[in-house]
Amino acid sequence: MALLSIKNENVIYKVKNKNIHAVNNVSFDIEPQDSLGIVGESGSGKSTLALSMLRLLPKKIAEVSGEVIFEDRNLLTISEDELRDIRWKEISVVFQKSMNSLSPIHKIGSQMSDIYMLHNKTASKAEVKNKMTELLELVNLPPRVYTMYQHELSGGMMQRVSIALSLMHNPKLIIMDEATTALDVITQGQILNEIKELEKRLSIARIMITHDMSVVANTCKKIAVMYAGYLVEFGYVDDVISNPNHPYTRGLLKSFPTLKGERGVLRGISGSLPDLSVQHDGCIFESRCPERSESCHKEKPGTVILENGRMVMCHSAGRR
Ligand code: ATP
Ligand code: MG
Repeated sequence: MALLSIKNENVIYKVKNKNIHAVNNVSFDIEPQDSLGIVGESGSGKSTLALSMLRLLPKKIAEVSGEVIFEDRNLLTISEDELRDIRWKEISVVFQKSMNSLSPIHKIGSQMSDIYMLHNKTASKAEVKNKMTELLELVNLPPRVYTMYQHELSGGMMQRVSIALSLMHNPKLIIMDEATTALDVITQGQILNEIKELEKRLSIARIMITHDMSVVANTCKKIAVMYAGYLVEFGYVDDVISNPNHPYTRGLLKSFPTLKGERGVLRGISGSLPDLSVQHDGCIFESRCPERSESCHKEKPGTVILENGRMVMCHSAGRR
């Protein structure tokens, strides 16, 4: 059974009489211990998708529909209390700026302990201190970090603290949104290796949002490619990278010629994302697609399911 199953999810931002369709009819499953990389250029709806799954978007501006089933519970309809419990204990989130939510005037350790105690009210002081030291060790931080302040930590150390916090309650799923993007390549590589190691050891599944295709290639089992709020391709990383089926995925991969080194410009695809507040009759990628044909202009492509769980939203899917 899937750990997380997203079914026909839509997110519409309602701003100034405009409806911005940021996520459109997205469906996919995450199996226990899966690692899924979500890629797509800026504005394609990756963060919106991740935030909406956990109801972290303000209700006033974001209308979310569809289903997000996590172990038989629909996260979009359960009570706030139930959701709050799932949010740290079973699914945790790490953002690029996660540390901004910590206070600069309190020691790291005491803040970590406070967060821990929110969900473990009966834990003794000694128990909490032990647990925190254990967590710091887990992410390769020395115990002295416990008594340090935020401004005394480097960027890499801060991200490690964020990751330690996210692991606090042994979650089954961890969602990382650009969590290592701001770090230098070496620190990022180290942290990613540690995460892979921890996942194996603690049986955690991961959804990782990144601009960096090489991060996905090196650390994920599956990949989801988003374009203008649509999931245009999904499958095993090895399958998708060796034989990308959607023209957008092919363009995206061309922007990373070696899959190592720095990220390049989107060389494979000219133009920019369409206006998400305007509805299109045909394929959303049509205006930029080097392989478009007549039907792409008239008709929205459905999602074609190919071998090995591959899904592709294109009229010519599977024909190459
Ligand atoms: P990036 O890679 O830059 O982080 P992303 O793929 O995460 O981009 P989102 O931040 O999810 O993209 O944005 C998707 C679309 O929704 C964009 O068009 C964006 O302008 C719009 N959007 C995001 N947040 C809001 C908001 N709070 N109000 C209105 N529109 C929003
Ligand atoms: Mg984002």
